[in-house]
Amino acid sequence: MLRSSSFHFSEVAASAGKPRLPSPQPLHRVSISQPGTTTSDMHSRDCVKVAVRVRPFNKMERDASSRCIVAMAANSISIQDPRDAQCRRSFCFDYAYWSHSGYVIDDLTGLYLPEEAGGRYADQECVFQDLGEGILENALQGYNATLMAYGQTGSGKSFSMVGYKPNKGLVPKLCERLFEAIKENQDTRQCQVFFSMLEIYNEQVVDLLSRGSRPPGGLRVREEQHRGFYVEGLRTVPCDSAALIEQLMEQGTRTRTTAATLMNANSSRSHMLIVLQLQQILSKESVTKQSNINLVDLAGSERQRSASSEADRLREGTAINLSLTTLGNVISALADMAVGKKVVHVPYRDSVLTKLLQSALGGNSRTVMIATLSPADICYEESLSTLRYAERAKHIQNRPVVNESPTERLVKELKAENARLMQRLSRLGQDGRSATDETKEIRQLVTHNELQIRTIHTLWEQHLQEALQDWEQQYANITQERRMMQMHPYILNINEDAQLSGVVKLFIQEGEWDIGINEGTSRSICIKGLGIQQRHAVLRNEHRRVMLTPLKGSKVTINGRGISQTIELQHLDRVILGSNCTYLYIGFPSERGANDWSRYDYDYFLSELAEAEGIHLGESSNDSCQTDPRLLAVFYDYVKMMPLVAEANQMSQELNKGVEFKLEIKNLVLSDSKGHDLEKEIVCRVTSTHSKQVWVWSKAKFVNRKFLMEEIYQKHLDEMKGQNSEEGLSTAALPREKDPFWDPVEPLLLGTAHLWLQSIAFRIPVDEQLEVLGSEGSEESILQAKLIPCTHDGSPLAEDDILIDPSELLGRRLDVRLVVEQCFGLRWIRESRDRGVQIGFHLFDSSSHVYTPASWRNINPVLRHTEHFASLSVSRRLLNYLQTSAVLLELWGLQEGCVSLVSTVESARGNANGVIIIDLNDVVETMSL
Ligand code: ADP
Ligand code: MG
Repeated sequence: MLRSSSFHFSEVAASAGKPRLPSPQPLHRVSISQPGTTTSDMHSRDCVKVAVRVRPFNKMERDASSRCIVAMAANSISIQDPRDAQCRRSFCFDYAYWSHSGYVIDDLTGLYLPEEAGGRYADQECVFQDLGEGILENALQGYNATLMAYGQTGSGKSFSMVGYKPNKGLVPKLCERLFEAIKENQDTRQCQVFFSMLEIYNEQVVDLLSRGSRPPGGLRVREEQHRGFYVEGLRTVPCDSAALIEQLMEQGTRTRTTAATLMNANSSRSHMLIVLQLQQILSKESVTKQSNINLVDLAGSERQRSASSEADRLREGTAINLSLTTLGNVISALADMAVGKKVVHVPYRDSVLTKLLQSALGGNSRTVMIATLSPADICYEESLSTLRYAERAKHIQNRPVVNESPTERLVKELKAENARLMQRLSRLGQDGRSATDETKEIRQLVTHNELQIRTIHTLWEQHLQEALQDWEQQYANITQERRMMQMHPYILNINEDAQLSGVVKLFIQEGEWDIGINEGTSRSICIKGLGIQQRHAVLRNEHRRVMLTPLKGSKVTINGRGISQTIELQHLDRVILGSNCTYLYIGFPSERGANDWSRYDYDYFLSELAEAEGIHLGESSNDSCQTDPRLLAVFYDYVKMMPLVAEANQMSQELNKGVEFKLEIKNLVLSDSKGHDLEKEIVCRVTSTHSKQVWVWSKAKFVNRKFLMEEIYQKHLDEMKGQNSEEGLSTAALPREKDPFWDPVEPLLLGTAHLWLQSIAFRIPVDEQLEVLGSEGSEESILQAKLIPCTHDGSPLAEDDILIDPSELLGRRLDVRLVVEQCFGLRWIRESRDRGVQIGFHLFDSSSHVYTPASWRNINPVLRHTEHFASLSVSRRLLNYLQTSAVLLELWGLQEGCVSLVSTVESARGNANGVIIIDLNDVVETMSL
């Protein structure tokens, strides 16, 4: 990468006469070296530069006493598998930044700085020196440049790209330096900077700077031969200072925040794209250089993984983040290409993001990727996957060229084209009326071209003046807001994405205010979001107190607890309205102390909610050091899933779907045949309120489904706005095969019981009443089962067949009958009569799975099902198994419309008398004893 600390232009020339100023070119040229454009084409290959950065632990990780599993040395980084001390993987990148430890936060400035000069902590300035300066240098030379941040949500993408207030990230620093460089060189070249900011969410492009209403479906991405892909109608604002850009970014963030709550969207799923266009007119040479700088804060990388991790009947064509998945595919294809593999097709066209970044990936751009990671053990999988992704990206080769063109060329070309069109038009006129359509089209083209010529001639100053006026207006708003903050209490939005927190302030002036969707009335505070009622609550500011009263049917949570009556708000109370609109209450100025609300971040809200549910996290007690990091990861998952489930329930309710969602922590297979607890997993239990049908969804499936639910919900809202009541029904009454709230019913594993085998080693029969325990420890049923040692033909053994020493079994034949007698008090049937059950089990090495016939509508069904197992020659392994293990008896729940489970007996195992042979593999071993 090119680096220099000062900017020297090689083509210095004195300006002679004012040149004409072209307006910005449409964004995202694919390659300027296409026909019709002159370039100083060097066609040099240039690999994507990749940097990695590790952030400090966050609060949750500290509370969990996380271990740092990442180490760095020079440009290499290694990561340790927390469960396997032997497994450490290393990667090498162009840059590796240690921002995990060795820093202090400066009291005065709030800056994160290395503890000592030259310390190992990589601060924002250091990252900018390496990555930002190079990008800037490139842009000034006329190259396109792209910088993108990739990583898990919360890993530090936005911190690196945008930064948090005093700790400015790459974008604001780049802008500052850009305008400095422009000033330094203003007598040799004239520079214009255009700024735009957009978001890609669910394959829709949202203009974050647009002042008008957003078009439904987002802005269109179009392709033109010479321009490549571009966003039609995107606002590009001329800028002459870094301060103006900073203000525009603030405005964009505000739009992003309101859009996120409005559409009930999650910012971690959207990509933010900032485009700086730099045009330089080198007066003497009459040459224009143009470069686009793309600055991309990508969606959280975990989104891509959850989308592809599991089969789902509704998954086809509904990737949670098509753009992110496609970016991965494009990078893979390009990386393959770079190592000489034959690649037929690079799927740029498959998503909006890859269309817009086409030139950055294998095209005309110098590109840098910064991959950000959490160093904590609980993030191991995600961090490893980030490193692998980055590893692939570094192979991509681009062919950057300097984009320069004679300033007057475009105007000349357009004029020539118009002349041609006019000629054609006059010929058509002579031919008579037959070609009216074509006439119309040509006229349109002519007007379009004239318009373009005019825009090209429009003076830069004029645009700039408009932008500056806009700025003044914004500035006045900001000053006004500051004044309000000093006078009134207010509520402040807290977002899951720290970047969007504290952006919206809703002031509670003296008097009584309705808060809710309610627009129109003057005494209301408008908010929107899932589960917010027309009139949701009343806020009363009287006698220097603020009281909040929830209105009928609305959900209000204060400091983790649901409330139904008036309460007085206290400074720094956490307020949740509806399912997930989270706010922090900031009291009267006199009540505010040090004014630091940063500790009340979204995680704080979540832990508080979890505590109300009886789940305690974050008490840094001594024993938490011993907690298995994987178990903690499950708990964090649970806590993070809670608001999503609340939202799904709210949508189900509003769409009249009649299903309820509930989170459960499930032991995988409950416990193993030795009775040990296995790994835990989060699942979502879905219950139909009418039919009592039940489904159990994995977390990945739930996340995927919720995304589809949101789409349907959004459509529903749009239809409601359209006031077409018949149409309004259409989303609610989706055909079942397309309805994400619904699935075909399947048998459900309700619980398991352990039938211990030890007595069989002594050939003593067993008759037990067993507890069948559900995944959360609930008692599902009592199950009576027997194990009866028997003869070849199944008759019970006599008492004197009992063994004193089990090793006498070795090498001899053993026959056992397993009898599933009866279930008592089946909870599954008690809950809803139209249900059935089956018991399933298998023994030792046999993969034959046996199920009892289904029994329906009976709380205490007599099953009396017998299965005969035999080992022809007992091996040591079988004996050991008998002495230490249990048969897992699985209780399966059947529901109306579902097909019952069928036994699968391997042909090699079944014998003619219906005996299942076990202990086959070891026949040879025992024979040799
Ligand atoms: P992302 O954009 O990847 O979701 P953020 O950039 O918002 O994540 O970072 C999450 C949190 O971690 C923020 O509170 C941020 O201040 C903090 N953070 C991230 N990177 C660093 C860093 N290098 N140094 C200090 N704090 C950081
Ligand atoms: Mg972010």
